[in-house]
Amino acid sequence: MAILPRSPYKLGLILLAFGVSLHTLLTITHSGYAASTHPKRLLGGGSSPSSYSGNGGSSQWTESDGPAFGGNGTRGGRGEKANAAFVLLARNSDLWELASSIKQMESTFNHWAGYPYVFLNDEPFSDEFKKYTQELTDAECFYGLIEPSHWNQPDWIDEEKATAARNDMIEKKVIYGHSVPYRNMCRFNSMFFYKHPLLANFDYYWRIEPSIKFYCDLDYDPFLVMKEKNAVYGFVLSLFEYIETIPTLWDATKEFVASRPDLKETMKGNALEFVSEDGGETYNRCHFWSNFEIGDLNFWRGDAYNSYVEFLDKKGGFYYERWGDAPVHSIGAALFAKKEQIIFFEDIGYTHNPFTHCPQGASHSAGKCSCDPKSNFDNEWYSCTKRFLAL
Ligand code: GDP
Ligand code: MN
Repeated sequence: MAILPRSPYKLGLILLAFGVSLHTLLTITHSGYAASTHPKRLLGGGSSPSSYSGNGGSSQWTESDGPAFGGNGTRGGRGEKANAAFVLLARNSDLWELASSIKQMESTFNHWAGYPYVFLNDEPFSDEFKKYTQELTDAECFYGLIEPSHWNQPDWIDEEKATAARNDMIEKKVIYGHSVPYRNMCRFNSMFFYKHPLLANFDYYWRIEPSIKFYCDLDYDPFLVMKEKNAVYGFVLSLFEYIETIPTLWDATKEFVASRPDLKETMKGNALEFVSEDGGETYNRCHFWSNFEIGDLNFWRGDAYNSYVEFLDKKGGFYYERWGDAPVHSIGAALFAKKEQIIFFEDIGYTHNPFTHCPQGASHSAGKCSCDPKSNFDNEWYSCTKRFLAL
């Protein structure tokens, strides 16, 4: 039953969202289900042009395939590094959950890659937080404060309306429905993190959250893959969003697109079909799970995405609803990038509760992965990754 979501609360929400009974879910998540009902190799590790499997032998993005240590702290002998950093938004109280995540990032990748860490917080980081995080790595660590206007609920939000919306969500038992800080976080991640001064000189980032797990050794540099592919967004997990959190997000999106006919060229060859089944009329609720993301900061900073989120912000949906940064980033990437610019990092084994992506076949062996390949969310019906790979 490893593929069952471990948090009963989240599972309940998923069930509600899809209107199925627990019985149905238990039946279909039975371990034999994936094997018996899904076409073999549906996800085909590495066979899709937009999935990456750098560990499993020849790769189109790395010149050297040996795991030898090269110069300048990089593996593979090229000595090349991207202009990139890890981004970790966290509270002081997240210290030990985050330490665990960093430890795994170091041991699977960064001990040889040496990318810096940028920690961001709406309150000053404690000395304890700084000491114990810096101790985990030889790489440089930066600690930044978020400016209040990039974090707090804006004055022009109608607090009565926002309170009513939160109360309504409490009643409907929407996860984090009660929380203003959670909404601040979602808004910050949607439209401000890439403007933080500590990130100003970086081109790429990899987001890390507390309590996540990395299972596989990486002998290539995902940042360089992003750069060489001219990619803007990398993910490992995707799924359906809980509709109660975003009832008007798609209407706002359509309104924005209609207001910007000049973006037509930008939107040519995009991944619209990942987020819509009917040519853009409705949102199918598919989104990349943004607790893991490797992205191009300049894409977010660019006119299309940045105008989009500023437009969204004016609608107030971060507070009148509970728009998450995951659907916002996903829709932004799906609409304003080319579909080839979105990469599925098939060979990065990862868990953020309650979901796991575990590499399959050759990628699993090449990465010496410690996850059970059977516990792979990609095969579940509420994963959107199959849809992505079919694009
Ligand atoms: P979930 O993954 O959606 O369940 O949400 P998390 O609780 O993991 O929050 C997402 C990210 O934002 C994590 O990296 C948290 O550490 C961070 N975060 C959430 N709330 C706050 C907050 O109030 N202040 C700060 N500084 N970070 C926050
Ligand atoms: Mn999280």
